[in-house]
Amino acid sequence: MLLGAVADDFTGATDLCSMLVRGGMRTVQLIGVPGPNDIPPDADAVVVALKSRTAPVREAVDQSVAALHWLRDGGAKQFFFKYCSTFDSTDQGNIGPVADAMIEALGCGFALACPAFPTNARTVYLGHLFANGMLLNESGMENHPLTPMKDANLVRVMSRQTDGTVGLVPFGTVEQGAQAIRRAMTGMKEQGRRYAIVDAVSDAHLVAIGEAAEHHALITGGSGIAMGLPANFRRAGLLPEAGDPSALPLVAGHTAVLSGSCSRATLMQLGRAREHVPVYELDPIATPDAASLAAGALAWAEGKLGAKPIVIAASAPPEKVAAVQARFGREEAGALLEDAMARIAAVLVERGVRRMVVAGGETSGATVRQLGVRSLRIGAEIDPGVPWTLAEGAGPPLMMALKSGNFGAPDFFTKAFEMLGA
Ligand code: ADP
Repeated sequence: MLLGAVADDFTGATDLCSMLVRGGMRTVQLIGVPGPNDIPPDADAVVVALKSRTAPVREAVDQSVAALHWLRDGGAKQFFFKYCSTFDSTDQGNIGPVADAMIEALGCGFALACPAFPTNARTVYLGHLFANGMLLNESGMENHPLTPMKDANLVRVMSRQTDGTVGLVPFGTVEQGAQAIRRAMTGMKEQGRRYAIVDAVSDAHLVAIGEAAEHHALITGGSGIAMGLPANFRRAGLLPEAGDPSALPLVAGHTAVLSGSCSRATLMQLGRAREHVPVYELDPIATPDAASLAAGALAWAEGKLGAKPIVIAASAPPEKVAAVQARFGREEAGALLEDAMARIAAVLVERGVRRMVVAGGETSGATVRQLGVRSLRIGAEIDPGVPWTLAEGAGPPLMMALKSGNFGAPDFFTKAFEMLGA
């Protein structure tokens, strides 16, 4: 293991994994803190996915440090703390306290912080984070229900979350390249600063920052900043060129799509899938009970399973979602349908489904939990940000693609299986 990463949420972890695979690293995502007897997977990078972004500070710190220790014991040579490219946090944390604790555990005294991801329109200029070309605090993120970001100045934001001091490596220095960035960061560390916010508005900047951080024990940021890291390991002779890092063993079996996302992209993908494959829709108003909803879908699926995918969807357009939420309440409706989808997934696997696409972040989380999946080996991307993975854990190995709502082209559901040669 070369790189050991801790991510503060599930889809963010997958994002980081995809970035590392693109850079040539064989990458495995682990779900939750591994146990002391869990053997590190055979991979160049291991990303432990936590659900710590909005957890109580103590819990986030404890889990992150436990994951860090496990990764260190597993032989990782460098560590990464992955958070959201919009720096989702409050004055209480969790980015500052978790990073502080990781720095202390590693005894390294210093880390850079860079959430920039220019491809996704997240840039940092003179310490200010922009999302979609707008200052973070005017981008809509100021209204986030859990982590409202009311200040775009990351030096200030981070300073409020740590008892250490925070400096800035500004655009002018970053433009000069890796050596200048390295010099600036070394200077800051020598002055006793604990963090450097580093500007980046282009991929070239991310690559230069990655190179400058070659010998840093800990790097913190979004998945963008991981862009430059594989090259460091390659230059050091630790990462062989050979082989396709996204190659997965093909698992044979029936195919299915479970869709719990109601995002516009998913609804469009469902519309497209309807032209080609059988689609079943759950009706929570008629059947307000997870077990019965699952039973209905599973009766429908009887005799339909095979190489051609079937689709089971809770997804609905906004007016239908509103009606369901009005009836049950927003959270209860979500939980009911997540529960139903998870039950359906478990029985489909019993019936021989081994290739499964799940649409929706929360829906994916519920499904993966129900199936007892512990690790995802990251394969080739179906569309940007959504790779096929080999899921392993309590049950038989499965091929899973976990799609967060807004991701994927309109033909995603059929394309995914075509990629596997279905
Ligand atoms: P996304 O990634 O698009 O946000 P998620 O799975 O994270 O998708 O969230 C979608 C939420 O909406 C889930 O909790 C799911 O159970 C819920 N949901 C799905 N279908 C409906 C529906 N018809 N009515 C109300 N809620 C729904």
